[in-house]
Amino acid sequence: MKWICVFLFLTFSFDQNPVDKNYLLGKFDPAADPRFVRLTAEFASGSALHRHLRKETFESFQKMQRAAKKDGVRLIIISATRNFDSQKQIWENKWNGKVKVEGKDLTTITDKNERAKMILLYSSMPSTSRHHWGTDMDLNSLSNSYFEKGDGKKVYEWLTVHAPEYGFCQPYTSKINGRTGYEEEKWHWSYVPLSNGFLEEYKRQVHYSDIAGFAGSEIAESLQVIDKYVEGVSCR
Ligand SMILES: [Zn+2]
Repeated sequence: MKWICVFLFLTFSFDQNPVDKNYLLGKFDPAADPRFVRLTAEFASGSALHRHLRKETFESFQKMQRAAKKDGVRLIIISATRNFDSQKQIWENKWNGKVKVEGKDLTTITDKNERAKMILLYSSMPSTSRHHWGTDMDLNSLSNSYFEKGDGKKVYEWLTVHAPEYGFCQPYTSKINGRTGYEEEKWHWSYVPLSNGFLEEYKRQVHYSDIAGFAGSEIAESLQVIDKYVEGVSCR
């Protein structure tokens, strides 16, 4: 009886605090974490580094993908979990001009805030990305225009109606109603039964002093990346 009580206590405690700060900051290896699964080619294309999801997210995605297929809609994940190191590479490639943003070499912008704001149109600072959590994914194309005509339009319309049935929500919608942060991303979907809890934990555990270890990290607070970007989501 005593051990059953201890077990129940531990289970309860785990549910109350399911993730620690390093998890929320993406400082772990999803490939070595038993809570994650690796996606096969049936579910994902793109970089081998970004092919892991939390099991719960994957199970629901699998059901959604099957239902979409029956309706003639193909869903494929092009980027799933990206940990701190992966996001740091994406961020710094843009920061250092190795990858252009909107056709521009950002090293030509000397004001660090302005340079960061350009990257923040569509990419997160390392430690602030929902892609760290195993709950979020990019589907089919990284271009809003793909989702506005032909097959892409059909995909987006299907997702808008049916994704909520599987627990998925589009966090970065139009900013017309005052949402702050990233521009609209019709490709980015989040498994809210997990991610809403992780967002709450993020707000409780993570502070601006935790956002460090990459080029430009010192301006995270002046740009209010937690208040405006991490919290600038439509899924509640
Ligand atoms: Zn995304």
